[in-house]
Amino acid sequence: MRSGPRRNAVRRLAREAGAHSVVWSAAYDAAGMEADRALQAAVEEMGLRAFVVHDAPAVPPEETTAVRSGGGAGYRALGPYLAAWAGAAHAVVTSRSTFERTALESEKLPSPDRFGSQEPVVQDAGESGARAALERFVRGPLLSYVTARNVLALPTSRLSAHLSFGTVGARTVLHAIDERAADPFLLAEERLSLAAFTRAVARRDFFYQLAWFYAEAADAPLQARMRRFAFARTHRALDAWREGTTGYPLVDAGMRELRATGTMHPRARQIAASFLCFDLGVDWRVGREAWDHLLVEDDPALATGNWQWVAGVGADLAQFPRIFNPRRQARRLDPEGDYVRRWIPELAALPAAEILDPEARSRRAQMTFALFDGATYSSPVVDHDLAARAFLKRYAAFTRGETGRS
Ligand SMILES: Cc1cc2nc3c(=O)[nH]c(=O)nc-3n(C[C@H](O)[C@H](O)[C@H](O)COP(=O)(O)OP(=O)(O)OC[C@H]3O[C@@H](n4cnc5c(N)ncnc54)[C@H](O)[C@@H]3O)c2cc1C
Repeated sequence: MRSGPRRNAVRRLAREAGAHSVVWSAAYDAAGMEADRALQAAVEEMGLRAFVVHDAPAVPPEETTAVRSGGGAGYRALGPYLAAWAGAAHAVVTSRSTFERTALESEKLPSPDRFGSQEPVVQDAGESGARAALERFVRGPLLSYVTARNVLALPTSRLSAHLSFGTVGARTVLHAIDERAADPFLLAEERLSLAAFTRAVARRDFFYQLAWFYAEAADAPLQARMRRFAFARTHRALDAWREGTTGYPLVDAGMRELRATGTMHPRARQIAASFLCFDLGVDWRVGREAWDHLLVEDDPALATGNWQWVAGVGADLAQFPRIFNPRRQARRLDPEGDYVRRWIPELAALPAAEILDPEARSRRAQMTFALFDGATYSSPVVDHDLAARAFLKRYAAFTRGETGRS
């Protein structure tokens, strides 16, 4: 909701409820934080007390030790943050708050067509749906999360939309994992999955604290030196990337999954985003904007942190850009081609070897032109090896002090 109408709605609600205080969940994107400050002033003007609480992350940004030990700044690197987070998480997970219930009429929720869809994409929307989804996940798939993270055909928790809309809280999720961990009959690999899933939730907190402490990075690279690196604003294959017709099956399957469902497997996201930034050399903000319209759980702070990470301009301090090879990743993450077959019907009838190797496919297409559906699938819009090496060359020139322009 925009800032003005939101202020008026809160004022009305506070009056109706006879409230003494107004408490709300903090925003982490720059515009949201600005709106929070305006709301706080408006509430205080009414003579009420205003509290902005950190309800989206499990561990509030200020609870990690870099801040508490007096520096005042957040963590810019994930590793040290995770160590600090682990220390702080136990206390927040074991403390539980209860709230009184009041019966106030809710505002009408927007209809799905406002977001370009005819029907709700999150089937189990709402609090009870979220609770059921969490329970289902914790009972079964959680125990093989490590595998699901690396196999595109397997779903991960799919909790991000619930977390984003607040129908389940991050602390509730951690509490459920804690309870599951108390089971003495878990196998070692299952415990590894619990730990990996906990790290995923911690990673989410990491990006929130990054947005909280480094508001200047909301629209510009966190790494100051990378603000001078010139990514392109467009590319002749940008629409192909958006539509899932780049000729790289894994990239295309991911983008088509996103267009069809409003979500995408986490590993496919990394490969599709890397392809945009490095193979096409297009600015991460263009990708963020495109996904903003498509992702159900789109969250400006998490989107920005992740896009900057992938583009190598944010918190990931790797020495060189992490350019993924979409073909090799397809062989690793989708060896049987199941994920690709599901989202690219043109390739559904082909054997895995051809799905994963565009060159083999194109040789076959030349021989069997128009007889097989595989021939209707796009040819690669760029040569990955050439594009990746050209990017690295430009990056190397940039780090030697040149402009980054090709
Ligand atoms: C370019 C890019 C953009 C992204 N944009 C968003 C976004 O707008 N909103 C969003 O919630 N996530 C975003 N992510 C992070 C991540 O891909 C999704 O949270 C995850 O795919 C959601 O699926 P899941 O719930 O099944 O995740 P699971 O793998 O089951 O993870 C469990 C939960 O941990 C959290 N989590 C896991 N990985 C991350 C991460 N890298 N960053 C932040 N939280 C994480 C999520 O809340 C997720 O629901 C983005 C990742 C990339 C690479």
